[in-house]
Amino acid sequence: MNFRNFKMIGYVVYGRGAFNQLDEILQPNRKGDAPMIFLVDHYFEGKPLAGKVPLRGKDKIIYLDVTYEPKTISVDKLAKELKEEFGTISGVIGIGGGSAMDMAKAVSLMMTNPGGSADYQGWDLVKQAGVYKVGIPTLSGTGAEVSRTTVLTGPTKKLGMNSDFTPFDQIVLDPELTADAPANQRFYTGMDCYIHCIESLTGTFLNEFSKSYGEKALQLCREVYVNRNGWDADCDDKLMMASYAGGMSIAYSQVGVAHAVSYGLSYLLGTKHGIGNCIVFDHLEEYYPEGVKEFKYMVEKNQIDIPKNVCANLTDEDFDKMIDVSLNMKPLWENALGKDWEKQITRTTLRKLYERL
Ligand code: NAD
Ligand code: ZN
Repeated sequence: MNFRNFKMIGYVVYGRGAFNQLDEILQPNRKGDAPMIFLVDHYFEGKPLAGKVPLRGKDKIIYLDVTYEPKTISVDKLAKELKEEFGTISGVIGIGGGSAMDMAKAVSLMMTNPGGSADYQGWDLVKQAGVYKVGIPTLSGTGAEVSRTTVLTGPTKKLGMNSDFTPFDQIVLDPELTADAPANQRFYTGMDCYIHCIESLTGTFLNEFSKSYGEKALQLCREVYVNRNGWDADCDDKLMMASYAGGMSIAYSQVGVAHAVSYGLSYLLGTKHGIGNCIVFDHLEEYYPEGVKEFKYMVEKNQIDIPKNVCANLTDEDFDKMIDVSLNMKPLWENALGKDWEKQITRTTLRKLYERL
C-alpha cells in the first residue's frame, strides 16, 4: 500500500474583511519591482471589490471572461503576454469562482514551465514550481482553493494539471466576497460541495481523514440549504468553510458518479461544472438514494431551477463522445462502485442515463 503524500496549500487567512489584509500579505512576496498580476473574474469590473485590489508599482488587474471554463489556449496566451510585457512577475492572484482560481494556478505554472499547458494535463507532469500564487474565492463550493489541480479544457481532453506544484501558496477566505452572488449560481456551486461530500462519504476510497472533513462539510451544507429559510451572512461564512472542508475530503478520497457523468456533458455541451453536477445528480437515485432525496428537497426549498432535457437533440455520435469521456474517469467509477465497476457500468447503462438528463 502506497499512501498518498499530498502537498497542501501554504497559508490560509479566514474572516470577514480578510481581503483588506491582502496588501500586507503580498508585501514580503514581492520580488523587486516585478509586478503582482491580479486575475479577476469579469463580474467584478467596475464593482467596489475592484477598487480594493492593492495595486502597487507595475501591478496589473486583468479581467477574466469566465463565460466558458478555462482552456489551455487562454492560459498559454495569458502567460505569453505576461512574459512579453514584464519578463518576470512576482506572483498571480486569482479572484473569483473556480474558473478564475484555476486560471491563476495554471498561469502561475506556465510562467516557469516550458511548452504549453496541454503538455501538463495529467498527473505529476509539472516539474517546476510556478510563480507565487494566491487564491481568493468569491463563490463557495468547488474546493479549487485547496485542491492540487486546475481543470483545463485542452485540444484533446478536459483534464487538470494535477501536481504538487499546483496548490496555492496562500488563500484568502473572506466570506463577504460571496455575498452578492446570484441565488441560482450560489446554489449550483454550493451543490458542487454537497455532491463532493456525498460522493466521498459513500465511496469505496473512504478513510477517516476524508470522513472527518466530509462529514463537517456536509453538516455545514445542510445548515445552509436544509435547516435555514433565506440567506444571510452566516450562510456565506458556513458555505466558505464547507467548500474548504469538502475539498480536503476529496483530496484524500475521490469524487464519484455525478462528476464522472457531468464531465461528459461539459466536454460535449460546455455545461459548467456546478450546474452540470446538479443536472446529473438529480437522476442518480440508484447510486445515491439518500443524497438525491435530500438534494431534491434543497432544490425545492431554495426554489432553484435545474435544467431538464439537455440531451434531447443529441445524435448517437454525441452520446458516444460523452460516454467515452465519462468511462475514462476510471478512479471516479472505482471509488463509486468498487474494483469491478466495469461490470456494473456499461455503455448501455450510461446511454440510458444521459438520455434521461
Ligand atoms: P465560475 O468560476 O465558473 O463562475 C460562475 C459565474 O459566477 C460566472 O459568471 C462568474 O462571473 C460569477 N461569479 C463569481 N463570483 C461571483 C460573485 N461573488 N457574485 C456574482 N457573480 C459571481 O463558477 P464555480 O462554480 O465557482 O467554478 C467552476 C469552475 O471551477 C469550473 O471551471 C470547474 O472546472 C472548476 N473546478 C475546479 C476544481 C479544482 O479543484 N481545481 C474543482 C471543481 C471545479
Ligand atoms: Zn466538483
